[in-house]
Amino acid sequence: MAGCRRWLWNWAIGRKQDHYAATGKSLSYHALAGELVDLKRQPETLWLKECHSQVLQQVLMDLETGFTNFFEKRAKYPRFKSRKRTPHSMRFPQNVAVVDARTVSIPKIGLVRAVIHRPLVGVVKGATVKQDATGAWWVVFVCHIERPDVAPTCDRPVGIDVGLESFTTLHTGAKVKPPKFYRRGEKKLKRLARKLSRATKSSMNRRKAKQRLAKAYQRIRNQRADWLHKHALGIIQQFDTVCIETLNIKGLAKTKLAKSFSDAAISTFMQMLHDKAEWYGGRVVKVGRFYASSKTCHRCQNKTTLTLSDRVWMCPNPRCGITHDRDVNAAINILHEGLRIVAAGMSETQNAAGDAVRPANAGGR
Ligand SMILES: [Zn+2]
Repeated sequence: MAGCRRWLWNWAIGRKQDHYAATGKSLSYHALAGELVDLKRQPETLWLKECHSQVLQQVLMDLETGFTNFFEKRAKYPRFKSRKRTPHSMRFPQNVAVVDARTVSIPKIGLVRAVIHRPLVGVVKGATVKQDATGAWWVVFVCHIERPDVAPTCDRPVGIDVGLESFTTLHTGAKVKPPKFYRRGEKKLKRLARKLSRATKSSMNRRKAKQRLAKAYQRIRNQRADWLHKHALGIIQQFDTVCIETLNIKGLAKTKLAKSFSDAAISTFMQMLHDKAEWYGGRVVKVGRFYASSKTCHRCQNKTTLTLSDRVWMCPNPRCGITHDRDVNAAINILHEGLRIVAAGMSETQNAAGDAVRPANAGGR
């Protein structure tokens, strides 16, 4: 079926190009759909009948969208799909269903044994059946879900300092170490990558080595995503107003700390906080990164100079002299600044650093 889909895609691009060369006009979706009916009757392309008809129609629709996006300068010219480069995939607008805890039903294929990762919620809007780099097949459902209508309050605010030493530090002093999945799996990845580079081109061993490497990468990705989801969810369930600093992510990644930074995946975490806040009726307030959260004393507002290695510092103001944990002090400042932004009603406009601060319930998903 995936082969039919690829063949039809390439055939349709070819037809569009020939038609344009001959007449100077574009060939519409409806014209192509008509030709598809004829193709299914011709003996040499009779095999197209074996493919689910809606999957084939979807191909022509996807191509139409591809061309529209190209003409409106949103995308590149649709490419021919090669057998080697294109992963197997097909889209069903309807009729893919979860039958029971171990079975999925797919049109023209029938009942398929499957591991159900989580129960379906909402109204199913279609499904894609595809194969990933490890060789495993997936059924991915698109579902429509109504978001619960909850307005954010400011009863349980939190300030979060995000960093490399400690992944998150809350203003309450709670710290969480960054996950080190990548480092831990790195040795294995290196060994598998070496094996792949040594394998003979287009051999069976090479294909196996490629799949093993893809599998190892996927494992790390899954572990990290799982960790981040749980951590973000925990924060959103405890607090309703999350004040957090926007980080100069590009600047950070250039340094020696780049690897442990990619381990920490701070930008993914921020996105998750946003999505979950929106869902649970909370909000994320972003404090501009030019606000000196680390080097300002939260008690007397005195500013000092710090290096990255100063984890603990004493306020030099003689009338203050408080000893700070660097990250906790930053989190407290971020909380104060975030609450100030909310109180000033700036949450719907822009803050000092020009980063848009969107309240949780603005607009749909
Ligand atoms: Zn002070």
